[in-house]
Amino acid sequence: MQPANETVLGNYEHLMLEHAPVGIALFEAQTLRLLSANPPYQSLFEPTWQLGQAIGQCLRDLLPKTVQAEVVALFDHVIQTGVASESQAYRTFSPTGGVRYWNWTLSPLEEEGQVRFVLVTITEVTTTVLAHQETERVQTMLRQTHHAVERERRHLADLETILLGLKQVAEPKRLAQTLLEALESCFSPLVAALYGITDEPGNFSLLAVRAPINLPVATSLLSATLSSQQHPDALHALQHPIPLIRRKSESQNPAQEPWWSVPETRCVLSLPLWGKRCEGLLLLALRTEEEADELLHTLRDCAPRLAEALASAHLHAALADEKHRLHTILDQLPEGVLLVEARTSRISYANPAAAHLLGFALPQLVGTPLNQSALLSPYGRPKQVQQSIFRWNFALIDALWGKHSTSQELSISRPDGSEVVVLSSAAPIRQYHGLISEAAIVFQDITALKHLEQQKDAFFAVANHELRTPLTIISGFVDLLQIQDTQQATVLSAHALESIQQECGHLLRLFQDLLDVSRLDQARLAVQPQVQDLLAPLKQSITKQIQTTRTHQFRFLLEDWQSSDQLLGCFDLPRIEQVVRNLISNAVKYSPTGSTIEVGMRLRRDPEGIAQEVVLWVKDQGIGIPTGDLPHIFERFYRASNSHRSASGFGIGLYLTRQLVQAHEGRIWAETMVGKGTTFFVVLPLGESTIKPV
Ligand code: ADP
Repeated sequence: MQPANETVLGNYEHLMLEHAPVGIALFEAQTLRLLSANPPYQSLFEPTWQLGQAIGQCLRDLLPKTVQAEVVALFDHVIQTGVASESQAYRTFSPTGGVRYWNWTLSPLEEEGQVRFVLVTITEVTTTVLAHQETERVQTMLRQTHHAVERERRHLADLETILLGLKQVAEPKRLAQTLLEALESCFSPLVAALYGITDEPGNFSLLAVRAPINLPVATSLLSATLSSQQHPDALHALQHPIPLIRRKSESQNPAQEPWWSVPETRCVLSLPLWGKRCEGLLLLALRTEEEADELLHTLRDCAPRLAEALASAHLHAALADEKHRLHTILDQLPEGVLLVEARTSRISYANPAAAHLLGFALPQLVGTPLNQSALLSPYGRPKQVQQSIFRWNFALIDALWGKHSTSQELSISRPDGSEVVVLSSAAPIRQYHGLISEAAIVFQDITALKHLEQQKDAFFAVANHELRTPLTIISGFVDLLQIQDTQQATVLSAHALESIQQECGHLLRLFQDLLDVSRLDQARLAVQPQVQDLLAPLKQSITKQIQTTRTHQFRFLLEDWQSSDQLLGCFDLPRIEQVVRNLISNAVKYSPTGSTIEVGMRLRRDPEGIAQEVVLWVKDQGIGIPTGDLPHIFERFYRASNSHRSASGFGIGLYLTRQLVQAHEGRIWAETMVGKGTTFFVVLPLGESTIKPV
């Protein structure tokens, strides 16, 4: 009999083993017989071995055939080595077909250094394993979904990169370049080329090509045009909007198809870009077919947009060409042209003539809002200028409201203070739907015309006076000669006849000058030069003029003159005499009676002493010429501001004089001081100089 507490303890042990969540079994090492197994362990067995039938049975008999060898080998290993073995999530199939998972351990129990028993513990982890498997399955699914989403996101990002890039570009070649750059950054193809359809039917022309820098040869192999008659890709693109993938095969000859000479190229993707019609052809050399699939996935979606972008870029380019053509024409016009935007009132275009006329630099003018431009701001300007600006503003506003205005005379004051008179017309520019988008102003510089008009008026006023005075004198003396008695006849008639002669001479010269000027205008004034020595005839002509003028004192100088000196040159003598006569008669006209007039000549010699030029001067002690007038006195009809008070004249003598001097390759200028006098210098070349026709 066992003591009572031992029995109780034994019962407890039994109970604990029975209800433990872990299956426990003890096998005899030598025979592999099952000595003991608690119910959770026994639940592993087939139903025939449950309910204690398995106790005493050999391990081999308890196991299904499929795992017998494997499990027995494990037991043997533990028994022989004395080292415990364990396994996680071992899978068993229940006879009913269910799958269960176990964590088990085989622990050797030794007695006197020998493994006598093997203790097996098993824990069922089926729920955990299944839960784990489910988690993994869900995770895999999630990973796949994530991958698909990521691919779609990349595809969208690529699309965005490509399409965004295109949005800002309107010029076909730049558009093509931008597209290829976007493709390169998204897909890194080996070579990418974009061809655009041309106006010539069936032809494509290369717009852009991109390749890594080490492939210049490959890109140079691409032809600049693809004709549908010669290139199958081009023909296909024109006929179908379907992409084409060509794979490299052994039989292909790189000499015939440049793409195959691009290293690493396995296939070529050719994507026709179709909108309403075929607009272009995209060709890509790729490393793998997967790359081609990937590219197609993105590009197929955006091909119609690319085609649209290409079409509108072509349209844009055509418009830009047309605009350029128009601007080139406008740029050449002598009239100023301004375009003012209706929406912003900015100057959208100005041609160089407009900038020049308005006195602004072209970049200053274009883009300037009109209300900020000095051009249209009347404030702080003289009244007359303000009125002009207001008229200009109204013309512009009228044009923007749809009214035309023609031939308005306006005076514009430039930033440098100078003034120009313009004849301006303004008109609205309407878009096809009738809205006014711009106003055009065209203006023509009529300052010179105005100036001429003023000169003409002044000329007629002076001419009236100039012709009337001598005629009155002549008719007075004629009357006198008719009524005089015979005794007085000789003295009076001599004086009268002399006066008539003088005035007739004056009138004759005046008419001659006028005739010459009109001939000059029509380029018909002939100068007939001859090689001659001017000295004697010129001296004679000067002396004669000096002798016939009694109102002034004269000095005639030949400065540094040697008796052998001559004035040998190619001269039209009467014209040179006319020059000297004009200068002497001006000196007489513009200096007080009794004052001295000096007429002189000197030679300019080269270092060998040979005369090269003659300098001729006429110096008076007269009214002088104001500094502001000096640069203009050789202009036609120009008279200095102080001249009207002292003498009448037409303002053509000096103009004619300078033309004649220049016809002899000579120069003329004046040195002057108001109130002190003026010296006119004429330099004429000696020798057989050529004479220009005037
Ligand atoms: P005009 O018939 O007025 O004399 P010119 O062409 O001979 O025409 O001269 C042009 C202007 O030059 C004159 O109106 C005058 O103002 C100025 N001028 C010419 N010669 C002299 C001079 N010797 N002294 C002062 N002014 C002169």
